[in-house]
Amino acid sequence: MRFVVLASGSSGNVSAVWNGTRGLLIDAGTGSSKGIEGALRSAGLDPSGISGILVTHAHSDHFGQPARIFAKKYGVPVLTHRETYEAACRRARAFHGMDQRGHVRFLTEQADHLHDVFQIRTWAVPHGSESAGRPLAFSIRCGGRCVFYATDLGMVPPYLIGAMREADFVLLESNYDEEMELSSGRPDHLVEWVMGPTGHLSNGQASEALARVFEPGHPRYPRRVVLAHLSEDCNRPELAISAARSRVPRDVEVHVAARYEASTVWEV
Ligand SMILES: [Zn+2]
Ligand SMILES: [Zn+2]
Repeated sequence: MRFVVLASGSSGNVSAVWNGTRGLLIDAGTGSSKGIEGALRSAGLDPSGISGILVTHAHSDHFGQPARIFAKKYGVPVLTHRETYEAACRRARAFHGMDQRGHVRFLTEQADHLHDVFQIRTWAVPHGSESAGRPLAFSIRCGGRCVFYATDLGMVPPYLIGAMREADFVLLESNYDEEMELSSGRPDHLVEWVMGPTGHLSNGQASEALARVFEPGHPRYPRRVVLAHLSEDCNRPELAISAARSRVPRDVEVHVAARYEASTVWEV
């Protein structure tokens, strides 16, 4: 499999995973459908190979208009929880009727779903309020390889540790540095939410989770970790990397997903 991050952060998230000519988008919350198509071609995947758009939750930086337009243009479904689709419909009328046109396939949580050539395991994650719908993380399997994708979560439920351990490639949120968040001057209620159990993961929380993934005694572990959804004001890539680097074995690569630029294409 191959994996690329096209955009990451509160200004919008888009990633893609593919095997040969078949692929999935993961989140589509920024830019335009045309922009995503161009970025996919640059990464080496013809957009017509995309068979679905996995959406983690309903916030507009993940489930944006490009998801709807891409789904319509290519006749492929958004794959998400029913409550996430309903939350997106409450936010924007444009999403209404996608389900009736067959442009949504509902996923249940903690379950396996086969879609095209991909086996998708969903994991429930705590994040947001009703506006987020029912947020999910994903383990995506194909050709004997596994990609794990989890962003926008306020805490790491224990079952995600095992899920990350079984993956070859992990994308995990590392949203904020605690000191920067506390001294950000943002309103108290916002800081409280970001740092709370339904907000976002700090560098400390992400690295703590990774330390558990890479605990000695487990024969299988991921070889590459990408830290994602970094806050523009309350984090810096070098802080996220150094927190994670100190808890991860030397032979594991650690990268940061950029906010606006496409990553390299990783071979999983
Ligand atoms: Zn987000
Ligand atoms: Zn969110």
